[in-house]
Amino acid sequence: MKSFSLFSLSFLSVAAVGAASGAQVVFDDIPAPAPVAEQPAAEAPLPSEHQVNVIYFLGNDNEPVPGYETRLSDILLHLQGFYGSEMQRNGYGNRSFGLRLTPEGRAAILVLRGKLPSAEYGYDNGGAWKCLEEINEHFKAHPEDCRSQHSFIIMPTFYNAEYNDDTPGGVPFFGLGTNCFALDYAHFDLRYLGEDSDRGRLLTKWYGGFAHELGHGLNLPHNNGSATENAAHGTALLNCGNYTFGLKPTYLTPASCRLLDRSETFAPQGSTTTYYATHEAPAVEDVAYTFDGAALHLSLTTPADWLVNAYVQDPPYYVNQDYDAVAFPLAPTGAPADGKQTHSVTIPLSELTSLSHTAKAEQALDLLLLAPDGSRFRTRLPLDWATIKPNQEIKPDKLEFSEGY
Ligand code: ZN
Repeated sequence: MKSFSLFSLSFLSVAAVGAASGAQVVFDDIPAPAPVAEQPAAEAPLPSEHQVNVIYFLGNDNEPVPGYETRLSDILLHLQGFYGSEMQRNGYGNRSFGLRLTPEGRAAILVLRGKLPSAEYGYDNGGAWKCLEEINEHFKAHPEDCRSQHSFIIMPTFYNAEYNDDTPGGVPFFGLGTNCFALDYAHFDLRYLGEDSDRGRLLTKWYGGFAHELGHGLNLPHNNGSATENAAHGTALLNCGNYTFGLKPTYLTPASCRLLDRSETFAPQGSTTTYYATHEAPAVEDVAYTFDGAALHLSLTTPADWLVNAYVQDPPYYVNQDYDAVAFPLAPTGAPADGKQTHSVTIPLSELTSLSHTAKAEQALDLLLLAPDGSRFRTRLPLDWATIKPNQEIKPDKLEFSEGY
């Protein structure tokens, strides 16, 4: 049974969460992004074996927002360029989520009409689940339309007493397993990106949200960068970057790019990997960590070809309270031997300055194991600063990993 995580139901309270966690980001030394019109056109990413299913989902009583084909294609290609350039900066080459293109070079969008009135597909009435059921029915009947296990579903804003093109909303807007939901409205148009205007700020809110939710749909958990990464690159997209995207420097962490490298729609053309086929956690041995007074040193052994990310965060730990989790990829140490690989990382306290409880109270140290086929398994080690003694090695009991984020 594949486990699902539901992210960002409290999307609108992200800023409050960030503020409460003491997250502070310095932007002053980093130039803001140039307006879209002044940016060089992004080089097309390398061809991909699988493509994200981009679906424009309607009720039985509404129509697409005018101009959606061009507006959404411009935004999808721009976003594909952002992910590609961040992958390149992190050493993975210009690889991004694959998109199916029309003969004119636009992002192809599959328009599906649901069986129910559009009001039935709302944020608050289980609309996402009803919509997914109908999309799955469509894919069963038209397997040629299903290009991967990842779907990006866009619905027009509601138009009622509460919502319209100036205050869009009402429809699902979150990541749900390998799917994510976003919305369309008349001014959802790249030409406003970075503009100091109501439409510019509204675009960052919804396009930044779209960029962040797509990250969830492509396997990314919430995470923040280290103090050094934040000082160099701005705000991590899977932290609170949905509020800065397009206005201020926003980036993908090395831990996020490592997950994308093994995400289905990033697979290069010719890939023969069957994605997400691993459902059993691997054997993990020799887990040990030591605190030397200034840094944690963590090491463990997994089967060869697996990778490990570590995340340190303040309580509370439940869904949507994890924006603050600072991510550290473990590096393989030496060559694999006997089919096993040792990994290690040093986590200096000085890189955790966005957290408020460091070395004062309990925190969580999560380990995420990444299979060659992109499956993920996660467990949590308590980091009880009251009992950690400097230079004393801690070896946790056997760890139980669960599948998912
Ligand atoms: Zn989120």
